[in-house]
Amino acid sequence: MPPAALTNWSGNIAFAMTQRLTPASIDELRSAVASTSRIRPVGTAHSFNHIADTDATQLSVAALPSSVVVADDAKTARVSAGMRYGDVASRLLEHGVALHNLGSLPHISIAGSCATGTHGSGAGNRGLAGAVRAVEFVSANGDLVTLTRDVDEDFYGAVVALGCIGVVTTISLDVQPAFEMRQFVFDAMPADSVLHHFDEIVETAYSVSLFTTWRTRDVDQVWVKQRMSEAAEPDPHWLGARLADSARHPLAGMPVENCTQQLGVPGPSHERLPHFRLEFTPSAGEELQSEYLVSREFAAEAFESLATIADQIAPVLQVSEIRTIAADDFWMSPSFGRDSVAFHFTWVKDDGAVRPVMAAVEQRLAPFEPRPHWGKLFSVEPATVALRYPKLASFRDLVRRYDPDGKFRNKFVDPYLG
Ligand SMILES: Cc1cc2nc3c(=O)[nH]c(=O)nc-3n(C[C@H](O)[C@H](O)[C@H](O)COP(=O)(O)OP(=O)(O)OC[C@H]3O[C@@H](n4cnc5c(N)ncnc54)[C@H](O)[C@@H]3O)c2cc1C
Repeated sequence: MPPAALTNWSGNIAFAMTQRLTPASIDELRSAVASTSRIRPVGTAHSFNHIADTDATQLSVAALPSSVVVADDAKTARVSAGMRYGDVASRLLEHGVALHNLGSLPHISIAGSCATGTHGSGAGNRGLAGAVRAVEFVSANGDLVTLTRDVDEDFYGAVVALGCIGVVTTISLDVQPAFEMRQFVFDAMPADSVLHHFDEIVETAYSVSLFTTWRTRDVDQVWVKQRMSEAAEPDPHWLGARLADSARHPLAGMPVENCTQQLGVPGPSHERLPHFRLEFTPSAGEELQSEYLVSREFAAEAFESLATIADQIAPVLQVSEIRTIAADDFWMSPSFGRDSVAFHFTWVKDDGAVRPVMAAVEQRLAPFEPRPHWGKLFSVEPATVALRYPKLASFRDLVRRYDPDGKFRNKFVDPYLG
C-alpha cells in the first residue's frame, strides 16, 4: 500500500484517519467497503476543509486501473473517477473530443471535483458536474450501483454528493468535438465598468475571470478565453481596461511560466481553460481558499458590498477571482437552480488572521444568500447553509437508502444529514 498523505494539499488539515485503503480492483474495493464500518472516500485531497477527513478509514480510488473509453458516437466518455482532469482531457484529445469546461487547476480528481460542485467559469457553462451523464459507485453494502441522467431521479442527488452515498468508481461524461481556444488578459478594469457592465464583461467570451486584490478600486486583471470559432479581435481599451502586452500571472510577481499560454495564441481547450499548466506542480500550497456563490443578478450589489470592506480583505488576501456559472439541477450543487456569480478568495496561509475577515465577507454577502463552495473554507453555520438547499430533504433520503448506517459520514457532513 502506498504511504498515505497525512494532510490535504494545502497542509492546513492534518487527516485524522487511522488507515488509507487504495484498492487495485473493483472487487477489492467492494469487499473493502462491505467489510469496513466507517470509511470516507478521498480524491486528490485538494479541499481546504474537513470534507474528506475521517477518524476512521480513508479510501482512494487512484490505484484502480485508469481508463478513458470514448463511445462510438463520440458524445460520451466513460472515465475512471480517480483520474485527474488534466490527464483525462489529454486522453480525450487523442480521440478528437473535449470536455465543456475545466477548473482553474487540472490536478484535481474527477470524482472529488464533482462531489463538491467544482466549477470553471463561463456564463453559459455549468459546473464540471454538468457534464456527468452517469455515475457508478459502490454503496455501503458493497453493491455496484449505476445512476443515469434523465433515467434515475436519484442521479440528481448522486453526483454532487459530498462523498456521502458511496465510493464513485467510474463517471460517464458528455464530450464534444475537440476545440481550440485563445486567451487575452486585460489590466485595470475600472470598478465602474464592472458595476455597470458586468453582464457584458462575463458574456464577452466562452469563459471570463476577473481577478482583484481589492487594493485598488479597479479590478486588476480580466482573463478572456475565446473559442476560436467565436474569436473576436480584442479592443485594446475595452471598457477602460488595457489589453496586456505580455503574459500575466493572477498574482503579480509570480512566474508567468506556470500559467496557460496567453496573448491570443490558439491551443487545445484543455490548455487554455485552466489558468495553470498541468506540468506545473503547484508547490507548497501556501494558501487557503474560500468561495461563495450568489445569484448572478446580485453580482454588482455583492461586489459593491465587498468593496466596503476592501481594507480588511486586502491585508490577508493573495487574490480574489470572480466568475460566473450557469444553473444546474444537482440537489447539493452551489449553483442549483440559479445562474451564479462566485466570489473566490485565495487567502494568505494564516488561519487566525483569515478567520475574522472571512466572517466579515460572509456578513457582507449574507443578504444575497450565498452558498459556500463545499471544498473551501467557510464559517457560515450549517443550519444556515442548509436553508439554501431546497432539495436537502431528498438528499437525506437518498443518503439513507445507499448508506443506512452512516458508514460514509464524517463530522463535516453530519450536520447536513440530520
Ligand atoms: C489550487 C486549487 C485550485 C482550485 N481551483 C478550483 C476551481 O477552479 N474551481 C472550483 O470550483 N474549485 C477549485 N478548487 C477546489 C477543488 O476543486 C475542490 O476542493 C475539489 O473537491 C478537489 O477535488 P479532490 O479530488 O482533491 O477532492 P478531495 O478534496 O479529495 O475530496 C472532496 C470530496 O470528494 C469526495 N470524494 C473524493 N473522491 C471520491 C470518490 N471516488 N467517490 C466519492 N466521493 C469522493 C470526498 O469524500 C470529499 O467529500 C481548487 C483547489 C485548489 C487547491
